[in-house]
Amino acid sequence: MSASDAHANAAFETLAIHAGQDPDPLTGAVVPPIYQVSTYKQDGVGGLRGGYEYSRSANPTRKALEDCLAAIEGGRVGLAFASGLAAEDCLLRTVCVPGDHVVIPADAYGGTFRLFSKVLSRWGLGWTAANMADPAAVRAAVVPGKTKAIWVETPSNPLLGVADIAALAGVAHETGSLLVVDNTFATPYLQQPLALGADVIVHSTTKYMGGHSDVVGGALVVSDEELGAELTYHQNAMGAVAGPFDAWLVLRGIKTLAVRMDRHCSNAQRIAEALAAHPKVTAVHYPGLPDDPGHEVAAKQMAGFGGMVSFRVAGGEQEAVDVCGRTELFILGESLGGVESLIEHPGRMTHASAAGSPLEVPDDLIRLSVGIESIDDLLADLLRALG
Ligand SMILES: *Cc1c(COP(=O)(O)O)cnc(C)c1O
Repeated sequence: MSASDAHANAAFETLAIHAGQDPDPLTGAVVPPIYQVSTYKQDGVGGLRGGYEYSRSANPTRKALEDCLAAIEGGRVGLAFASGLAAEDCLLRTVCVPGDHVVIPADAYGGTFRLFSKVLSRWGLGWTAANMADPAAVRAAVVPGKTKAIWVETPSNPLLGVADIAALAGVAHETGSLLVVDNTFATPYLQQPLALGADVIVHSTTKYMGGHSDVVGGALVVSDEELGAELTYHQNAMGAVAGPFDAWLVLRGIKTLAVRMDRHCSNAQRIAEALAAHPKVTAVHYPGLPDDPGHEVAAKQMAGFGGMVSFRVAGGEQEAVDVCGRTELFILGESLGGVESLIEHPGRMTHASAAGSPLEVPDDLIRLSVGIESIDDLLADLLRALG
């Protein structure tokens, strides 16, 4: 019996540490070694040991990560890529052909929007942006016979909008399309989209999964074995795989995901509450606030509200930019999901590519990735920067 079988009914925290990671049969090493290797000796032509032939097709360190990803998302097939966008590109070019259409969120990650609007549009893939919090609007955006996927981020980036995954799975399946959930913000610890009816999970493992701002990676997870086989074929055929060391870093990050997320959630809740009470703050977007429009759905489908908070300031764009420049502990930078807190101005940074589009974000918006430092230090830094 392999360790994966032994852990089949284990809880999330156990799977995150053990799934896909039997102690190394040769040495007993308790974590998977970094198999920094491109090719494998064959025992006679075609005599592969464990199926390994060439590391674009498969690599043991990447395989350990892929099996772990599948286990923690409750899926059957996990695939690890060089970045989140590489995973998205592989998925879209596997399930769509020129002339097809995808419904995308009206507040998507900027890089995802750029992939649709600037790259895949040139290959004949159409898209319509819809408010994912409104299943009727999503239904109306579907082009019968053309829409192959409904693409959801929940909570969304950067406005923390919440979409009802089960309701959207209903819309997708009624219209013959796939429901794709970008689970980067929530992570599988807080949200299990496959169990709610989603067909494909997308991750930027760069964020919470890696968790330490030291690796760029992406992932896809599916339950359907046939779709999994098509994606596996395209992963190899297109080639944007995660390297062994990157896979190892993500695998290492996942081991502490549960404890990190608990702290991210509690720190973010305290920050959101403090911001909501601040006279210079005009709006706070955080699904953990009881009056947030996404609170009810988030409370139903998530085990916690996550570590991302965004807010708007009185004083407009210049004030938002200035606040971003005044924090000391919150580091001014793009990305999110690391142990350290980050602050950024989406309009000029992560979402600059959405300017002038239906996905443009308010210019007085600030986004926080709340880390796991002392909450007292974080609050003091932020309140001082707000003045
Ligand atoms: C960062 C991010 C991506 C893209 O991932 P990369 O690893 O940067 O390519 C996709 N979706 C969301 C929600 C993200 O935050």
